[in-house]
Amino acid sequence: MSNVALIGLGVMGRPMAENLMAKGYSVIAMDVSEAARAAVPGARPPAAEAFAKADAVITMLPEGRHVDSAYADIVLPGAKDGALLIDCSTIDVETTKALSEKAAARGLDMLDAPVSGGPEAAGRGSLSFMVGGAPKAYAKAVPLLADMGAKYSHFGASGAGQAAKACHNMICGITAMAVVEGFALADSLGLDLGQFYELCSNAAAQSWTLQNRCPIPGVAPGIPASNGYAPGFAAALMAKDLRLAQAAARGAGQATPFGAEAAERFTKFAEDGGGALDFSAIYTTLRSQPEKAETQAKSRA
Ligand code: NAD
Repeated sequence: MSNVALIGLGVMGRPMAENLMAKGYSVIAMDVSEAARAAVPGARPPAAEAFAKADAVITMLPEGRHVDSAYADIVLPGAKDGALLIDCSTIDVETTKALSEKAAARGLDMLDAPVSGGPEAAGRGSLSFMVGGAPKAYAKAVPLLADMGAKYSHFGASGAGQAAKACHNMICGITAMAVVEGFALADSLGLDLGQFYELCSNAAAQSWTLQNRCPIPGVAPGIPASNGYAPGFAAALMAKDLRLAQAAARGAGQATPFGAEAAERFTKFAEDGGGALDFSAIYTTLRSQPEKAETQAKSRA
């Protein structure tokens, strides 16, 4: 599978395309935005003839409705017989299952393979994939998944990968609330936030969210907070994922009160204008936009 079409070249799709090209894949990079396409130099232009030769079609789109429209417009009419369809977007289980059935009606295998890891892991090829779909399709996908990820796990039939992702991101959303509240309280108690970050990242409060999405500018290298909260993982997407988890919880009759609170908070933050910012920007609903940690430390000295 050396010919791959990648539809959706945003925060995640672009570094995924770059990683695949660096590993020798021929990548047809597709996006409704011309600017997004232009930002992936070296990719093949999105011509229909090139797309029809792709061995695998990866989608990395925001929501179910985007995947639905890409499948209706491009993927199902244009993919070659035998092409493997891998949807890496985080979307609802119902849309995933419906698209998998449409793909099967066209004789194509589709996997849901949402990811954890963010753009840094996408570029390094160290994502974690949560996969649903037929075992034979999963077996066929493993070499490609191994070039994009450090971990990949087959959870069951179509939709099982999205179910795992909903649970995973509910943990991330709740953790994010804990991190921003902890730092807001630390700031209001007059602590040095750089020192507090160092302590937490080497103690029991440590988490991926704390270390990679700490809301305080300057405390750790490369965090969105140091770049005006440019995502990263947009708050609107976090809100969407938390609502997906709530829908799953309602369907299963499982109480998830912390998840419900996080879904409500992130949805409100996104609706109030924060949706395009990294999710760590929700800190600003608790404390005013923080100064760089070192500036704070100096002003306290
Ligand atoms: P993004 O908004 O940055 O990128 C989405 C891209 O899709 C955009 O370039 C947009 O122009 C394009 N697009 C939209 N509709 C299209 C269509 N019909 N055809 C072709 N292109 C289309 O989003 P992202 O952050 O890259 O996230 C993509 C998915 O990955 C989401 O489901 C998100 O929840 C999930 N995800 C994101 C992260 C992260 O850290 N950003 C991490 C894990 C999972």
